[in-house]
Parts: sequence; structure tokens; C-alpha cells
Amino acid sequence: MFDKILIANRGEIALRVIRACREMGIHSVAVHSTADADAMHVRMADESVCIGPPPGTDSYLSIPSIISACEITGAQAIHPGYGFLSENARFVQIVEDHGLTFIGPSAEHIRMMGDKITAKETMKALGVPCVPGSEGGVPDLETARKLAQDIGYPVIIKATAGGGGRGMKLAKTPEDLERAFQTARSEAKAAFGNDEVYIEKYLTKPRHIEIQVFGDGQGRAVHLGERDCSLQRRHQKVLEEAPGPVIDAETRARIGKTCADAVARINYSGAGTIEFLYEDGEFYFIEMNTRLQVEHPVTEAIFGVDLVREQIRVAEGRPLSFDQDDLQLNGHAIEVRINAERLPTFSPCPGKITAYHAPGGLGVRMDSALYDGYSIPPYYDSLIGKLIVHGRDRGEALARLDRALGELIVDGIDTTAPLFRALLLEPDIQRGDYNIHWLERWLEAGPEL
Ligand code: ADP
Repeated sequence: MFDKILIANRGEIALRVIRACREMGIHSVAVHSTADADAMHVRMADESVCIGPPPGTDSYLSIPSIISACEITGAQAIHPGYGFLSENARFVQIVEDHGLTFIGPSAEHIRMMGDKITAKETMKALGVPCVPGSEGGVPDLETARKLAQDIGYPVIIKATAGGGGRGMKLAKTPEDLERAFQTARSEAKAAFGNDEVYIEKYLTKPRHIEIQVFGDGQGRAVHLGERDCSLQRRHQKVLEEAPGPVIDAETRARIGKTCADAVARINYSGAGTIEFLYEDGEFYFIEMNTRLQVEHPVTEAIFGVDLVREQIRVAEGRPLSFDQDDLQLNGHAIEVRINAERLPTFSPCPGKITAYHAPGGLGVRMDSALYDGYSIPPYYDSLIGKLIVHGRDRGEALARLDRALGELIVDGIDTTAPLFRALLLEPDIQRGDYNIHWLERWLEAGPEL
């Protein structure tokens, strides 16, 4: 059992892990850059260590500094949160080489799923349905042309090493292909240092449905249903809900079992998310994330479980505290991502918080590292809070979201909170009738924000 865990992250997710540690009687160690000396995660942890200057590459991504911080404080395990080093197989290897425990899957599984082509091949072999596309990487334009012709336009060119919505290009017609292929490659090279790309059929009106899975690393795994994350801007999620408005119990049980069986067969350990596009009643695998997701609280709300606690338990070699039959879905939950951004352009808006008030009351959870007087540094992600509501049904959750947004006060900077109040006025959102393109189209129409 762990006595002390180091959290290699910052912001709301660092707080999330510290809270789980505290409830489990485990000491927490925060690490921080010089820009984050006054950050909430530093204040809330039992101990803290400064690991470098502001840029992430010199601090939160600095493997030697993080390992040293473990050695100095005597932490036995590292929770990576999401982003930063959470899906870095080399980091996991180094952590293990130092006799420490990484709270997450093995380096091998991270590597397998981090390469999107290998991930797709693995999933296909495990019986998970995939988007029609190239078998493996596409070496040159000629091959790309032939494949695109066979698959049928529109097609999407994607970076093998891709992530965060980057390195993806759409070709609607054969005329678009050359440019899409070349730009996807150069963007992939610049962003990931690897210009390998592959081709997939471009689905025109899918929803983004992802399945939460959890493996104990010993051949057992469960699923915790789906999240619908179709409301996206530039391939980035802005609102997530569970259960999915268009997924029924039978469909959930079927795709959930397919996913749980797949990860059980590879002895997967810890939390994972299998992402699908869902169109005309069919699921198409796109990728697997081998970490805790930003949107995990909606799943926690409807299943009444603490996913971080389970991650820690599994990393300690203990069994999951529930099996599939214990997991009964209850009600409906919605999360909105509050970013420090100025609408309608979504340009980053760091700065000093002059007043902060978090909403509360029944069925409301606010995960945020903000406080009165806090200065948001300009160096990191713009996510500053997640507002999660839970109701007996979707209608109650929507009403609660509106009520909670009305209570939220973040003064001194601009945030994306007004976006959600505007969205709640839309009949399509009220009905749950949207796909992955809905938000972009709605924003293009220039709504009052
Ligand atoms: P990343 O790892 O960069 O997030 P994903 O493969 O998860 O990339 O895709 C991100 C988003 O891009 C999806 O949620 C979806 O909106 C869009 N997308 C990806 N593949 C396709 C496809 N084949 N057809 C249509 N949209 C796609």
C-alpha cells in the first residue's frame, strides 16, 4: 500500500488526485513550476517541490526533476493526471526503473495505443469495430490516391502519432487529396516529430461516443458505460454527458462488453477510454486513451464510484472494488469545460481573478483550482474549471446546469461559461440532437455570445 503519492500535474486534476489521496489516508506531494508557486494544488498538497521554470517542457514534462522530487520526498508512486506525461511510455519505463510505481497502465499498453495504427490493428484483432481505412501507414501520395478511391470520398488523413485534434486533414474530393496529404504530413512532423499518416473514411454526421473501461491488470475488466462528447470545437470537447442521449441499455451493454472483453484479453491495468464515432447505429473505433479523461466526473456521477481511488487501488495490486453487476447507472450527468478564453474567438485570456464563487447545491460539483486573487499564468492549458451536474434524468440535469451556471462568478478574466448558457437555449441541445459538427456550424452562424 502506498503512504505517499506524487502528482505530476497541476490545476484541477492535481486537486482531484490530492482529494482521493486524502480520503484514502495517503500523503500527497505536489510538484510545481516557479509560475505555479501560489497555485492551489501546491497549497492543498501535504508537501510540494519546485521542479523548474514556467515552460512545461522545463517543469511538468521534466522527467529527471520529477524522479528527483520522488526521491527527495520518499513518494512511492506517481499519478500523472491527464496531459503532460500521462501517456509517455518512456516516462513509465523510467519510473519503474527507479523502483517507483506509475499509477496507470504499463509502458507496453501506452505504446500500443499511442501509435494509432497499432491501436487500430490491435482493436480490430480483439473484435472491436473500426472506421474503414488504410491498413497501416500510407507512404506516398500515389498510394493515398488509390486508397482514397477504394474507401470512397470524403476521407480524412490522420497522423499516426496524433493527439489533441492535430495533424488531421479532410479531403472531400480527389482534388483536395494532395493538399490534405501534404499538410497532414508536415503538421504531424512539426507537432509530433513523426510524419507517418493513415487514411480513414470521413464520417459525415457521427456522434463521438466513448466507453470507460477499467482493468485490474490480471485479466479482469469492467466497463462503465459511455460518454457522449460530440459537442466539439476544433476537435476539442467542450461539453460531455452520460449516458449518451441516443444510446439505449441494450446497445450500452453490447458495446461495453466488447470493450471490457478487449482490454481484459490484453491484461490492461487501470482506467482507459475507448473512443468511437457512432453513426447510423454503428460504432467505429478511433482511438484509445490510456489515462484518466478530463470528462471522467460524468461517469463517476452516474455510477457513484471514485475512479481515481480505483486507479490507486489497482496500482497497489488490489482488485477493483466493484464488478460489472455492481455498476448500476443512475440518472444523468453533464460536464462543461470552463476555459479562460474570450468569446466569440476563444482566444486565451489568462490574468488575475478578482472574484471567484463556485456554484453549489444538490447535484453540483465544481472541479477547479481557482481562488480569489489567483493569477492564471499564461503558460498552460486554458481549462480552469469543470462544472458537473447530476440529475435524476437529462431534463433535470439541464435545468441544474443552467441554475449552476447562473451562480458561477469568475471576475477579472473572460471565460467560456456564457457559451453554455447560450447553448442551453437551443432546442437541439435540449433534445440531445447534435453530432460532432453541430457546434462548429452553430458558431459559424455567429450566435450572440
Ligand atoms: P485526437 O487524438 O487528435 O483527439 P481522434 O482520432 O480522437 O484524434 O479524433 C478527434 C476528433 O476528430 C473526433 O472526435 C472526431 O470529431 C474527428 N474525427 C476523427 N476521425 C474521424 C473520421 N474518420 N470521420 C469524421 N470525423 C473524425
